[in-house]
Amino acid sequence: MRRTVFEPEHDAFRESVRGFLMKEAVPRTEEWEANGIIDRAFWRKAAAQGFVAFQAPEELGGAGIDDFRFNVVIDEEAATTGAAGDGFALVNDIVAPYLLELTTDEQRQAWMPGVTSGDIVPAIAMSEPGTGSDLRAIASTATWRGDHWSLTGSKTFVTSGIQADLVLVAARIVRDGVKGMGLFAVEAGADGFTRGRKLDKVGRKAQDTAELFFDDVTVAPEHLVGEAGRGLQMLMKNLPQERLSIAVTAVASAERALAITLEYVRGRNAFGTPIGSFQANRFSLAEAATEVAVARVYVDRCIEAAVDHTLTADEAAGAKYWTTELQWRVIDLCLQLHGGYGYMEEYEIARMWRDARVQRIYGGTTEIMKEIVGRSMGL
Ligand SMILES: Cc1cc2nc3c(=O)[nH]c(=O)nc-3n(C[C@H](O)[C@H](O)[C@H](O)COP(=O)(O)OP(=O)(O)OC[C@H]3O[C@@H](n4cnc5c(N)ncnc54)[C@H](O)[C@@H]3O)c2cc1C
Repeated sequence: MRRTVFEPEHDAFRESVRGFLMKEAVPRTEEWEANGIIDRAFWRKAAAQGFVAFQAPEELGGAGIDDFRFNVVIDEEAATTGAAGDGFALVNDIVAPYLLELTTDEQRQAWMPGVTSGDIVPAIAMSEPGTGSDLRAIASTATWRGDHWSLTGSKTFVTSGIQADLVLVAARIVRDGVKGMGLFAVEAGADGFTRGRKLDKVGRKAQDTAELFFDDVTVAPEHLVGEAGRGLQMLMKNLPQERLSIAVTAVASAERALAITLEYVRGRNAFGTPIGSFQANRFSLAEAATEVAVARVYVDRCIEAAVDHTLTADEAAGAKYWTTELQWRVIDLCLQLHGGYGYMEEYEIARMWRDARVQRIYGGTTEIMKEIVGRSMGL
């Protein structure tokens, strides 16, 4: 079905993103997966092309573009090639909004030029060993010591945690008269801030993910991002965009999986006929293609809502859980249709399958998304 969400400038942008990823990322996927990390040089090149935090104003190195469709283009191309990890979505869709919307002029001046140039890799650390779904149970603390904050706690599953130069850390405020959570910007090299191991994941192997530890880390008052005590509300405000971004990649990945599988089932024969022409397989693929097309329309409508800043938490939660569950089913079907070859690392569908699994978990699990939708129904 023809998409109506994009203008010619988005199509032109897509061409340049695709060209860049095909040249700079795709040939290096294997190397990055083996190393468990994407090197800085790539990130700086992407930034030089204007693909990183482009919503920042020009004086801070961005392009001043407040149009989520450009984020979508990058997310879709990154998902389709499967080469560049989660860095683009993490920075453009998740962290940059915090750094631009909640910060003071001084904070933006201090951090954004580095983010837009690719010199500062940012990350966000909410999840902890003891809690992920239930952010209210965050145990890390930020204790006010009269002239600074003291941050103590452990975080885990932090995307880009190994490389990060600047980490937004969610912690419980311990200060007379203030209750709730705060977001604290901690820079690499701060005393008491250490990194654990690079986590060995089932998929998304090129993307580094880490545990981070904070032991009485001194955080200057000017590194508090937003208002002390309103951390949870700030997270809640930005999570819908993060979830839509995951839904966008889910649909793009499912489309890619279908495209490569169609080619495969047309060319592979069994019992003297292409395997795609068996009715069972034809029906399965027809169902998958139809469901992905339906998902595409709903997600495009959510993208329009995000552009207008009207996307609601329950719409984003519904999009996230439904599309990621669909992505998983479709890619599993596609792998099955590849037979034994589907289980071989050299086949793209194998990587897509292992990369897809986490989509139902991070950014809020399917169960938590259903909770959000259910609560919005007054249940
Ligand atoms: C590769 C990867 C990258 C990540 N990147 C980041 C990052 O950059 N920053 C960050 O902060 N976090 C990150 N996360 C963490 C991610 O957001 C959490 O893993 C996720 O929110 C789930 O939390 P949990 O792992 O603690 O699971 P738990 O909260 O322990 O949940 C375990 C199971 O219980 C279910 N459950 C929990 N509560 C309910 C309920 N009320 N009703 C029904 N079922 C429930 C869950 O759905 C799940 O199935 C990442 C995770 C992964 C795997």
